[in-house]
Amino acid sequence: MKIFRDSAKLRKWARKRRLENRVVALVPTMGFLHEGHISLIERAKKNGADDVVVSIFVNPVQFGPGEDYAVYPRDEKADLAKCRAAGVSAVFLPSNESMYFGDHSVFVDEVSLSRGLCGAKRPGHFRGVCTVVAKLFNIVQPNFAVFGRKDYQQAAIIKRMVRDLDFDVKIVLAPIVREKSGIALSSRNTYLSAEEKERALVISRTLAAVKKGEVKTVSAVAKRLEKASLKVDYVECVDSETLEPSRTIKPGSSVLVAVYDGKTRLIDNVQIEDGPRKSK
Ligand code: AMP
Repeated sequence: MKIFRDSAKLRKWARKRRLENRVVALVPTMGFLHEGHISLIERAKKNGADDVVVSIFVNPVQFGPGEDYAVYPRDEKADLAKCRAAGVSAVFLPSNESMYFGDHSVFVDEVSLSRGLCGAKRPGHFRGVCTVVAKLFNIVQPNFAVFGRKDYQQAAIIKRMVRDLDFDVKIVLAPIVREKSGIALSSRNTYLSAEEKERALVISRTLAAVKKGEVKTVSAVAKRLEKASLKVDYVECVDSETLEPSRTIKPGSSVLVAVYDGKTRLIDNVQIEDGPRKSK
């Protein structure tokens, strides 16, 4: 497994692979890898990647003031071992200095899909995400890149960026990986105390109840979360494709939630399936 800290070297390596007609896939992450990340690597292989490149970069530009950039969990050694075990061809571990010149002044700003949900609550977040993902696409020039539905709005915004800026990269989405308890895996789960973890169970349980049709409104979802002492950042029902607010929970819509469990912000979502849209 190759380890690159220098983007020029990775670019050269990836270009050579593509010239050899190998299919190159990119899996962008912030590290502290868990089974959710590994599932993206596996999906890349299933979708025909000969070489999977995993980037591990806690991107400072997507964190707002007062957010958890400084304390975000990092474990390079464990991450490399997991990538090796998963059969990754190359890991990209850039430094902040190598990704951003001191006078970096060009950003990618999606201005429609990012207006609501996490975009409204975390100003500048998706600008940081789009900018770093655009840079990673330009460095690796992968045939395709895999993102998780866990970050549902992010996936929609990246797809829009690819469409609107003509990136020659196919976007593949992978389902949310959960613990047996239902909790969506997240690097941030490491912040949770035992008591907070117990409370977090209510998020996935409530969304499972939404999917079954047992909880029928957004306000009923919020009530359940609040009853468990979770602080609701937002609960919204949106059209799964356009992310436009949807007044009722119905096939083709998704329910997205963000809550504070203690100091930790957790997100999760569920899609209400409707036949033809299911595969998207
Ligand atoms: P992160 O390291 O949290 O920035 O996530 C990197 C990628 O992994 C993103 O595409 C996420 O959507 C995806 N991801 C994170 N957690 C999960 C999960 N539990 N299931 C599936 N994908 C995930």
